[in-house]
Amino acid sequence: MGALPLLRTHVRRPPLADAEFPTEHQVINPTTEEVIATVAATTPRQVTAAVARAVAAQRAWAALAPGERARALRAFAQTVDQHIEELADIEVREAGHPVGNARWEAGNARDLLDYAAGGVERLLGQQIPVPGGLDVTFAEPLGVVAVIAPWNFPLPIAAWGLAPALAAGNAVLLKPAEATPLSALRLAELGREAGLPPDLFQVLPGAGPVVGTALVDHPDVAKVVFTGSSAVGRQLMARCAPRVKRLTLELGGKSPNIVFADADIERAARAAPASFLDNSGQDCCARSRVLVQRSVYDRFLELLEPAVQDFRVGDPADPATEMGPLVSAAHRERVRSFVTEDAPAAIRGRVPDGKGFWYPATVLEAAPDSRVATEEVFGPVAVVLPFEDEADAVRLANATDYGLAGSVWTRDVGRAVRVARSVAAGNLSVNSHSSVRYWTPFGGFKHSGLGRELGPDALAAFTETKNVFISTEEN
Ligand code: NAD
Repeated sequence: MGALPLLRTHVRRPPLADAEFPTEHQVINPTTEEVIATVAATTPRQVTAAVARAVAAQRAWAALAPGERARALRAFAQTVDQHIEELADIEVREAGHPVGNARWEAGNARDLLDYAAGGVERLLGQQIPVPGGLDVTFAEPLGVVAVIAPWNFPLPIAAWGLAPALAAGNAVLLKPAEATPLSALRLAELGREAGLPPDLFQVLPGAGPVVGTALVDHPDVAKVVFTGSSAVGRQLMARCAPRVKRLTLELGGKSPNIVFADADIERAARAAPASFLDNSGQDCCARSRVLVQRSVYDRFLELLEPAVQDFRVGDPADPATEMGPLVSAAHRERVRSFVTEDAPAAIRGRVPDGKGFWYPATVLEAAPDSRVATEEVFGPVAVVLPFEDEADAVRLANATDYGLAGSVWTRDVGRAVRVARSVAAGNLSVNSHSSVRYWTPFGGFKHSGLGRELGPDALAAFTETKNVFISTEEN
């Protein structure tokens, strides 16, 4: 892998650097371990100024004709489309994502903007039959929305909040994760190049407890869209409570992949590795608990072994690569802490030698109540657990506080529907591991989240319903 050019971003430096807060942070390429950028951190004072600018920008944006807002978002989507390769290259370097995945991620941001643009002119209210007059509802924008994003899918997750929020007439302040601010900063530049009003979409890099909390606490931030760990999500929910602040939470997962004996076992085994190795397992929807009916358990493991070994691990810049490194050295230590000697590795993949935060694909036969079988690892680690029958499969699948996603592999249509309806999770797939499509609603049950993103109702989450009654009485 050749040396990558160093990059210094053009974020304004704090005018009054406060010694309490970090003034900058480094972005490290997880594959080469080189510092590729130093990004100035936003101070609380700068957050306050950014909110004030966003309030003014939002008023002007919401006053535009819907068709004009739609056109502006389509122009933004088109500009993103013209920079897919550049955005993908940033994700390869700051997040270590394989370039094929990174291109999909940049394309997903474009698609979300396009899809949301189609909703601007269809943000319909209702006319409700009432006595004595005319009753109509309006979908009013909320005002300023803060989007707090994690590092695992920096561009798509930023766009999940950004696109529908703008489409519904709001301004957006995006706080990217400390490790991955570069694609978000470039996205905001592309928005300005496309002609969006300068303060309508601002990116505020910095530490979560500084910039994130300043946004959450600000009275002029009407809604917080948070994607990240369940622990931080709970804290933010409590922080929003005193102001009854609107909040969407997309949190962690520990999703099951349920393989019944009547499934196409070869196909299920071939598909399983990507479901917990894609993005090096740093995926909230990772199917990290593989539940296999006991009668086909040994056969499934025999088939899974070569499928895991064939998953191509290596240089993220190589289009053939399917799995890159983990995001950071600290995260690798966290992942490693789950793989203890009391759970023997049934399957262990390989990783490149030398630099990079590599961690091998690992499949464990662990006790159902062990830490690795119950907590989110967020790395390329899965546990396999046998089950007896349909009821046992559903019981095991639901034996977790999480409820984000899940897969059911069976040839029995009735069983597919029964089990999909019985698993307490927001996104189920049958004979597939697909979870995230921008056309369909996405979100978690239980501790995996609150509210839904994406899908046909995405804009509604960024509006308040206002009811207006107009009397037709003559006196
Ligand atoms: P994290 O909770 O540590 O951080 C997420 C974001 O919150 C970052 O921008 C961080 O700076 C900010 N933050 C941290 N502490 C904060 C605080 N006290 N106040 C305000 N903001 C704060 O999570 P992470 O490690 O970046 O991301 C991994 C987690 O995200 C995993 O648990 C994963 O499952 C989850 N995730 C969920 C979804 C989903 O859609 N459900 C999608 C992707 C990731």
